[in-house]
Amino acid sequence: MTSVAARPEFLMCPADFFEIRYEINAWMEGNTGRSRRERARQQWRALHDELARRATVQTLPPVAGLPDLVFTANAGLVVGNRVVLGRFRFPERKIEEPFFRKWFEEHGYEVLAPPPDVYFEGEGDALPDRAAPRIWLGYGFRSVLDVAEWIARALQIEVIPLRLVDQRFYHLDTCLLPLDDGALMYHPPAFDERSRRLIEALVPVDKRIAIGEKDAFDFSCNAVQAGDTLLMHRCSPKLEALLAGHGLSVVQTPLDQFIMAGGAARCLCLRLNEAPRPRAAARELVRRVVVLAGHLFDTGIFVRAMDLIAAGGGSFETIEMRPGQRREDRSFVKLAVSAPDPETLQPILAQLLQLGARIDETTERPARLAPVDIDGVAPDDFYCTTIHHTEVLVDGRWIPVARQRMDGVIAVERGGDGPRAAVRLIRDLRRGQQVVVGVDGLRVTARGKPAGERPAEEFAFMSSAVSSERRVELAVDEVAWEMTRIRRRGGKIVLVAGPVVVHTGGIPALCALVRRGFVQALLSGNALATHAIELALYGTSLGVDQSSGLTVHGGHRHHLRAINAIRRCGSIARAVEQGALKQGLMYELVKNNVPFCLAGSIRDDGPLPETMMDLVAAQNEYERLLAGAEMILMLSSMLHSIGVGNMTPAGVRLVCVDINPAVATKLADRGSLESRPIVTDVGLFLTMLLEKIEKIDAE
Ligand code: NAD
Repeated sequence: MTSVAARPEFLMCPADFFEIRYEINAWMEGNTGRSRRERARQQWRALHDELARRATVQTLPPVAGLPDLVFTANAGLVVGNRVVLGRFRFPERKIEEPFFRKWFEEHGYEVLAPPPDVYFEGEGDALPDRAAPRIWLGYGFRSVLDVAEWIARALQIEVIPLRLVDQRFYHLDTCLLPLDDGALMYHPPAFDERSRRLIEALVPVDKRIAIGEKDAFDFSCNAVQAGDTLLMHRCSPKLEALLAGHGLSVVQTPLDQFIMAGGAARCLCLRLNEAPRPRAAARELVRRVVVLAGHLFDTGIFVRAMDLIAAGGGSFETIEMRPGQRREDRSFVKLAVSAPDPETLQPILAQLLQLGARIDETTERPARLAPVDIDGVAPDDFYCTTIHHTEVLVDGRWIPVARQRMDGVIAVERGGDGPRAAVRLIRDLRRGQQVVVGVDGLRVTARGKPAGERPAEEFAFMSSAVSSERRVELAVDEVAWEMTRIRRRGGKIVLVAGPVVVHTGGIPALCALVRRGFVQALLSGNALATHAIELALYGTSLGVDQSSGLTVHGGHRHHLRAINAIRRCGSIARAVEQGALKQGLMYELVKNNVPFCLAGSIRDDGPLPETMMDLVAAQNEYERLLAGAEMILMLSSMLHSIGVGNMTPAGVRLVCVDINPAVATKLADRGSLESRPIVTDVGLFLTMLLEKIEKIDAE
């Protein structure tokens, strides 16, 4: 301990007017009017007297009507003769600011005031390390991340931002305490992972005192150090022993009245003689300007953007905002998004891009490319693709990315006709290929056209709202109408289906749709084909007679007999050729030259000869059959539908039929406008769909 003044000096404000009059933190909730003023005054006095024995204590006169003025730690951050004034987040406390300012001015401090909207709650969130030239800054609930940079510049000192994630530890001084010997007492769960790692990187292990939940909730970190003594509300014997190892003794002085308001010893004392630290390199925040345009407010995109910036440990400042004036108008928002380091900023930007944000030209940089060094392995920092149309900035040009799909990487090739980009799966990467890393030079178009811009006659799945049973009929009408249009223009409709289609009596309708040319490919697994063949051969599915609904004696083996019969023929196609299979779904597919792919799974019986047990090959075949699809009907198969969803770019219409609302919604929730969940029985859906299509055709 070299740079700390011998006799510490603090500012306290008597608790004469302390009470709980409002609720602005988790501790205050339910406590309005519950504190006892006399007891609070006694507790304050006891703390004051203990401190005054070991330190110099200055007093700020209390003010009637300002119950929280007692928490002087929030007045500001004092370093040497300068004070960075607190800027309170809540109006209830903002009114304290002039009283603190006046005291500092009258006592000869140079007052530095952050801009009014840059929230900063003084030593509640900014605690100088006692050995290293740095200030720990808590953000996430009260102070904002941007103040870190402001303080670093103003005081020429390194500021380490730590993100608080538990609202019971809403101020840094509730969960972290730098001790005079350079040790750090802290409660790790109060911080996000990055912050915990940062503390571990900067403070040697023998100087870290991680405290458990009990001590943390007893506000042990909210202690005041004066020489070799720590004054705190309560301390477990275990912690007391740990602190003794650092040469510290603990004086416990009850402060429960103040804890009801979310503060204890440290909150009640502002350190006044913090020695100036040697100048250290100021750690700059990393910042990028991001633009969001479109239906940002009615679609909730703006709220999602704000949430994901905060959840990712970043912060933002709105540079420009132009909300649309009418419902159909587009809005425009320009934000400066900042984070403590590039590792934190990058995932935030990646998610913002997925929402359809673009990085502003002023901060735009070309895409960063890195070579693949091992076949089938991407560079660590690879950009992970989404379903949305993407462009990359390479050699000064924005080029569209081909084969858009989710969970791939972007490979860039430079040929004679300029650079080209396409999505590749990690497993398909080859050594030497260049792939995009980071989030620079990427532009993602996440949204379909807003409602007002769509042609009136265009089929419009307006929202992803789950259909109620009453609305199913209407939804079926829309799907039938759209399918008819796609068939008339020679477009492609792909079906993804599970065996429930058979069990619910959907096969006759499905066969009719195949015959009528409404299915251009079928993607499924072993089960659908097996049960459809069982139905075609024995009239049962899962051993239940489809016409009577009765269980057939020995029927539980029918599906195995069906598989065996096909295996005897060599394939489904040969079974049709040889006349062993004369009807049913698989028969219609073969007869009508509709390609199908059956992807295997661990639970498959048999399997049927066509079932592809090599899943990489099956995924490739699914992808091939999906190419060019305009509509995909996903019928009661979670497994295959999720697989297909990942391969399908935005812009393809998805109709997701499932009896389980959660499954239907999840499948349809792709952040694009063209998906529709329909919650109903799949057999019923297919029957209604066929009826409707027949009607449209007849008309
Ligand atoms: P899945 O769990 O992926 O999907 C079934 C979906 O159907 C669920 O989301 C469920 O909510 C929904 N559903 C249930 N009843 C419904 C109804 N009446 N109407 C609408 N939706 C309804 O299961 P899956 O696709 O059946 O099977 C997963 C894998 O297991 C597949 O690869 C399949 O081939 C295989 N499998 C093999 C066999 C076999 O070989 N005998 C049997 C069953 C499944």
